[in-house]
Amino acid sequence: MNNMRSRQHAYQKHKSNSTGALNSLYSINLTNGDVTYEHAMLLNILNNSAPYAKEVPEEALILGNFLSSMTPTLKKLGYNHGVSIGRALYDIFGIRNRLAYPQILDQLSKFFEQVGYKNCDYNVNGRFVSFRIYKTKHKCSSGPIHDIEAGIISGFISASIGDISHISETSCAYAGGEYCSFDSAISPKFSAPESIERYALHMQREGTLEIGDKIRTEYYMLNLMPLMDLEYSDSVCIMLHYLGSRAIKYIMPDNKNKVKILQGIKAIYNKIGFGDVVCTQKPLKLEIILDDLRSNKAFADFSASFAKGALEGFSAKEDYTVTYEKQGDIYKITIK
Ligand SMILES: [Zn+2]
Repeated sequence: MNNMRSRQHAYQKHKSNSTGALNSLYSINLTNGDVTYEHAMLLNILNNSAPYAKEVPEEALILGNFLSSMTPTLKKLGYNHGVSIGRALYDIFGIRNRLAYPQILDQLSKFFEQVGYKNCDYNVNGRFVSFRIYKTKHKCSSGPIHDIEAGIISGFISASIGDISHISETSCAYAGGEYCSFDSAISPKFSAPESIERYALHMQREGTLEIGDKIRTEYYMLNLMPLMDLEYSDSVCIMLHYLGSRAIKYIMPDNKNKVKILQGIKAIYNKIGFGDVVCTQKPLKLEIILDDLRSNKAFADFSASFAKGALEGFSAKEDYTVTYEKQGDIYKITIK
């Protein structure tokens, strides 16, 4: 993931207090003072508080969670990625304050709250942990889709007790209920994969609703990392292209009015976090601007795939050209 590594340069300022004292079995690799992408993003979340923080609508993260639940391989990849984030997070708290387990779980709760989730609580009984993250209701999945969060909790606990502790999401707010429940498990369980059609139906139901809670952009990008892996990104683009073509059908089911359809695309983009859209209709052109945190080629491909799907959904033209341009810290995608 060269494109992800290149982002590290923007975060070098954090490295001074991140080295040394990280020689535990679970510490992340910080040789030569290099800060991993995960570490830099976590520090950014912890060091920057609202209102200066950058955020995306929760719906953006839901789409990311959903895409990460499309196959058992992606779910497992997400879990393992979460474990690495959880360990990095423990290392950060370990440097700041050597709290003992289970009290250090308060720090994990605070982290999820800083990310943008409503609140958390937990219950510890010997080696058995039950951790809850409360969320706004969005019924969009048939089963648990927070494998990354399960991994983060597992990695954090494993690092703090010095032993492997697996966690499974046993019930999910997005399948109904007011919280996601994460419980100790002998081995992580990855529930049945989701069908893309289910998310399309969810978009149709929620499409016109207002933007609700916000999630930190750094956390959103951390969640998308496994999807941006070269091995999977093409398949993700195909799914997003399909979702874009479905989206247009519910924005304006019978409308052939180009202006209204372009306004609809703009509104959806605001909601799913794929960038700020500027449209012109003569000639038909979409410009998508990605801010510095989302300024990444794989992410730009995701955004462009959804837009192409949407444009092809309402016009017969199928040869839209996509160009990418990096302008300082931002990324500009043009589709015409
Ligand atoms: Zn969940």
